[in-house]
Amino acid sequence: MSPLVTELRAAAGRENVLSAPSELAVYDCDGLTIERQPPRAVVLPGSTRQVAAVIRVCQRQGVPVVPRGAGTSLAGGCVPLGEAVVLALSRMNKVLSIDLRNRMAVVEAGVANLQLARALSGTGFHFAPDPSSQAASTIGGNTATNAGGPHTLKYGVTVNHVLGVEVVLSNGSIVQFGPVGDPAGLDLIGLLVGSEGTLGIVTKVWVRLMPNPQDFHTLRAIFADVADASNAVSQIIAAGIIPAAMELMDQGILAVVEEAFHFGFPTDAGAILILEVDGPRAGLDRQQQRIVELCRQFGAREVLQASTAPQRELLWKCRKLAVAATGRLSPSYLIEDGVVPRSRLPQIIDRIAEIGRRHQIRIVNVAHAGDGNVHPILLFDERDRQQVDRALAAGREVLEECIACGGSVTAEHGIGIEKIALMGRLFAPADLEAMRRVRQAFDPSLRLNPGKLIPPRGLSPLDRGHPQ
Ligand SMILES: Cc1cc2nc3c(=O)[nH]c(=O)nc-3n(C[C@H](O)[C@H](O)[C@H](O)COP(=O)(O)OP(=O)(O)OC[C@H]3O[C@@H](n4cnc5c(N)ncnc54)[C@H](O)[C@@H]3O)c2cc1C
Repeated sequence: MSPLVTELRAAAGRENVLSAPSELAVYDCDGLTIERQPPRAVVLPGSTRQVAAVIRVCQRQGVPVVPRGAGTSLAGGCVPLGEAVVLALSRMNKVLSIDLRNRMAVVEAGVANLQLARALSGTGFHFAPDPSSQAASTIGGNTATNAGGPHTLKYGVTVNHVLGVEVVLSNGSIVQFGPVGDPAGLDLIGLLVGSEGTLGIVTKVWVRLMPNPQDFHTLRAIFADVADASNAVSQIIAAGIIPAAMELMDQGILAVVEEAFHFGFPTDAGAILILEVDGPRAGLDRQQQRIVELCRQFGAREVLQASTAPQRELLWKCRKLAVAATGRLSPSYLIEDGVVPRSRLPQIIDRIAEIGRRHQIRIVNVAHAGDGNVHPILLFDERDRQQVDRALAAGREVLEECIACGGSVTAEHGIGIEKIALMGRLFAPADLEAMRRVRQAFDPSLRLNPGKLIPPRGLSPLDRGHPQ
């Protein structure tokens, strides 16, 4: 047994350290399955103290550390580059307190988003960020990636709902930022949220609880094409209505979702929108009526309200499990996460289709349309290297097209390794240098999740790979 494994066992307990090749294979990738590298070891700590002890061991041994929640990252954020030790926080999964008077809950980093939602059920409060991966993804992972979700159109992304964090820094010290409502001085909580494990390991999170809306109406609008649906989205926002959610699914994804869940979507529809308005009961009918008018004005052939709670649940299930349903179409997928100004949605969807045709890669689309956030799902077979290369090239072109439309390469999934080279397209060299300095202030030896988020000096935007 290596001295590293011996020390890790002493730090976190013998049974919480994995080192056999068959055990390590499970941790060689995340949701970006085409990038794989086995870790040197995996540690599953049960407490913040154990996390700190593991970090100190890795520092002593000069080994990088990659934090991992549920591993649902679609950007390769958990790939253990450089033979890293994976620090998997899934055993730290307790909801520590729910404080309704102060509208706050405290959770360990490995608590799944849906687990928190269930713990809050019946209290009249909820945690607003609801990524489609919420059944698995953890609050620590949501914090590290600044996750969004269908309902963040109205309520904001994770950073707007984190009041405090406990973090283990690269030297093994344990620090707490917050909980505070309105931070004075430097907003270090804002800096840590979205830092993808490069500044510290989040071990505990104080989250904001929002009162549940008094009521909500959920609608399904059917359009002949994506352009009409996108124009309706822009017009609804322009009319001063901020729905809780506006989700778009195109024809390709509709067909497969219908086959999987039998909701009753017409498979000849070019696109559908799932729209939700919520808030005080008074006024919701008026908002709904206006939305129906605007959808019809832009060609919706049918706008239906989900009339029962199970119907609403099924509608959201169709949306949230849409990605999983694509397993019926192909063995592998690559989900991109571009964002464009809302008014450019029709243009980007057209360009995505053209890119798919040119690279001979089938692409279906879901989108948090209200945010201008597109998630083209590129379908291919990972066992065929040529298909993988074509999918990667097509994905990259899609993201470059988002930049050309005045948008960005991520709205919510983060940069990870997948988009690290594209950071040079978004930021000037001086901006990237400033980010490197901030990172170095937190982690001078650059051992926390190396090769992610912030490109090292010399990595060109033209590079197709990632730093090792
Ligand atoms: C089907 C599907 C749907 C998705 N839908 C959405 C969506 O609607 N919105 C959205 O935003 N994302 C979505 N995602 C992406 C992903 O689920 C989110 O990025 C999520 O926040 C990751 O959580 P996780 O616990 O799985 O983190 P992981 O994947 O384990 O890690 C993600 C990143 O955070 C770091 N990290 C994890 N935990 C910690 C920690 N405790 N401290 C420090 N760093 C840490 C990791 O090193 C990695 O860089 C989806 C993914 C899938 C597979």
